[in-house]
Amino acid sequence: MRLLMKFGGTSVADAQCIKRIVDILEEHHKRGDELAVVVSAQRGVTDQLIEVASSLATAKDSSAIAPLIQSLSKRHMVTLEGAAPDYVQEVGSELDEKLINLQNILLAIYNLRELTPRSKDHIVSYGERLLAPILGAALRQRGLASSVLDGCEAGILTTPQHGESTALPESDERIQKKIGVLLKKEIPVIMGFMGCTREGVLTTLGRSGSDYSASIIGAGIDADEIWIWTDVDGIMTCDPRIINDARVMPSLSYLEVMELSYFGAKVMHPRSIEPAMRKNILVRVKNTFNPSHPGTMIIRNGQRHNRVVKALTYIDKVAAININGAQMIGRPGVAKAIFTILADHEVNVMMISQGSSEANISLIVDEPHLTPAVTALSTLMKQGIVREVSHNHDVCAVAVVGAGMAGAPGTGGRIFTALGKAGVNVMMISQGSSEANISFVVSQDDGPRACRVLHDEFRLSEEDDE
Ligand code: ADP
Ligand code: ASP
Ligand code: MG
Repeated sequence: MRLLMKFGGTSVADAQCIKRIVDILEEHHKRGDELAVVVSAQRGVTDQLIEVASSLATAKDSSAIAPLIQSLSKRHMVTLEGAAPDYVQEVGSELDEKLINLQNILLAIYNLRELTPRSKDHIVSYGERLLAPILGAALRQRGLASSVLDGCEAGILTTPQHGESTALPESDERIQKKIGVLLKKEIPVIMGFMGCTREGVLTTLGRSGSDYSASIIGAGIDADEIWIWTDVDGIMTCDPRIINDARVMPSLSYLEVMELSYFGAKVMHPRSIEPAMRKNILVRVKNTFNPSHPGTMIIRNGQRHNRVVKALTYIDKVAAININGAQMIGRPGVAKAIFTILADHEVNVMMISQGSSEANISLIVDEPHLTPAVTALSTLMKQGIVREVSHNHDVCAVAVVGAGMAGAPGTGGRIFTALGKAGVNVMMISQGSSEANISFVVSQDDGPRACRVLHDEFRLSEEDDE
């Protein structure tokens, strides 16, 4: 079989974890599988990089740089020593070189007091840049031939949107040429999360973007399967940190996973299903710490189910925006003006609802998009197109997902009756056009309780009968 295996930050956290990955890869190699690997940064490293880079643009001094470089150096060297003792010299000096580069870039950010989206992308890619060579060395240490490539070298070409770029169709052919050849003789280790534009400028694919890299590369090499290795047994009926008896689902459809991940089920990057779906490649989500568990299988048409609702997802980093103004009543083009200006400011609108009087439009956006959204809408206020814009941070969105909801009457009634009985106040409702998703907004305090109520109502912790 030709397999693309992706290991997330939780699966590469230390030398022990890296050795566990090498065990998995060695086993498949012995079976004769062709393997390509995508890896993330070690858990927490991307966050560290973002925090320091962002602080430097307004910092009074550059004192945040040295501790960051020291901590990255220490953590990666300890991992390297444990996972690939024979390569400490060779790979250690490669890591040192990278850290010196990173330090210089961070100093430049501080001196210029400017962090552009382009330079930020460059900095945040260092987590993957530092980790991938360690995995490559650990494979060689075990006698498995391996080479290390960044996302651009692997053939991922993207749009120029820094921080949220999308793969271009011509990536497929480039990946096939580059990686398709390599995996006949070795195990290529590809740095996740990044690609580059046609001009060769580095871009990143959005947070959790290594899942997306995995799917892009998997599609490019026409993999038989794509395996996403993480720290839980598979995709669960709800985030296990919120619902302690959440259950692993044996199978889901591409559509269901897209609906779940769009609303923030952290197991998968929202765009990561699309490349696999295009090539009809089976995706598995598996646990590095429990590899014998079958995990979750993601396929075109999930298992036939009696279940109408399969899973819930909860996202608390959202904000509600209310746009009021009598000027909107019966005036054509107001909605167009609102959505055009939001798109121009690259604001991603997650949910929309319009009152029947037309005097009010409510939107849900990702929290980081709130400031650009409010700035954009204030322009419309100045132009007299809308009268008032207010916003509220203290909200969260819950999505109820299941392909069986399409054409099953009464699910909405059941959801909102259960919430009403539990005294959860629903502020806004939206049904996706696919009908595989009903989502709603409640106050932040009510979010976990809303999940609990619905998890019980639809008996999601009980095994399927078939
Ligand atoms: P990785 O580093 O492997 O990419 P992530 O931390 O990005 O891992 O994603 C895995 C985590 O996602 C799990 O540890 C779990 O806490 C969280 N999670 C949220 N929603 C779900 C869900 N529906 N099913 C499984 N895990 C979920
Ligand atoms: N390291 C990146 C992040 O933390 C990408 C990934 O882990 O998938 O978002
Ligand atoms: Mg992830």
